[in-house]
Amino acid sequence: MKKILAVILAAAVVCTSAMMLAGCGGSNAGKGDSGNADNSGNSASKGELHMATNAEFPPYEYMENKKIIGIDADIAHAICDKLGYTLVIDNMKFDAIIAAVTSGKADFGMAGMTVTEERKKEVDFTDTYAKTTQVIIVKEGSDKVKNADDLEKASIGVQMGTTGDIFVSDFKDAKIQRFGKGAEAVEALSTGKVDAVVIDSEPAKEFVKAKGGLTILSDPFVEEQYAICVKKGSKLTEEINGALKELKDDGTVDKIVKAYITD
Ligand code: GLN
Repeated sequence: MKKILAVILAAAVVCTSAMMLAGCGGSNAGKGDSGNADNSGNSASKGELHMATNAEFPPYEYMENKKIIGIDADIAHAICDKLGYTLVIDNMKFDAIIAAVTSGKADFGMAGMTVTEERKKEVDFTDTYAKTTQVIIVKEGSDKVKNADDLEKASIGVQMGTTGDIFVSDFKDAKIQRFGKGAEAVEALSTGKVDAVVIDSEPAKEFVKAKGGLTILSDPFVEEQYAICVKKGSKLTEEINGALKELKDDGTVDKIVKAYITD
């Protein structure tokens, strides 16, 4: 009996210190554990922070059992837990996120969003929290698009308003088809409506896994960095940077990423 109690107590101590490391929120305990509402039990909430996202971008944000989960959702929960805010996630089209932030409808945008000079004219970005590359998805055995050069004359599917869209829009001889969701562009590729899809590497892997018959070209392509966007001049950028640094330093961000990206 004594032995059992000792084991239970030891487990409780481990749990408590693990939760302290996680900023008492426990939001990084595992994939999607954070849910959509703040679950920190933090009684001294400074109020709500609204995050604008587009939950069509696995593994960063996507719907599962009517909840928005993903790397970004979990990091956002951990940041809010640390800062004492209650997180509310607002789902919208990707190309509506910056407007939501500049108009103050949302406090920040987090959606696997690449830092670009153009976007910096409209919003501030926090420190970056992930690296990505744009990749090319084609049908297995495709001879139309074998490398990045072939894209210049191809029919390409992209998600509207993304960096993939901006990048291929420079190709004069390419035929660009823009879709509201990355998954729709991938569907168009499967059914032969486009020759290739240009999209971020991790969502590409997820879409290819889910569909079959598709492959990602190994050509190295454009490198990018993800960050959170905030209204220009807002003090929230500094606040988020402080929390983000702690979460990077104590391994929480890595742990969240590893819960979603296993290869
Ligand atoms: N990283 C790309 C961008 O910022 C795509 C983001 C997304 O589709 N959610 O444009």
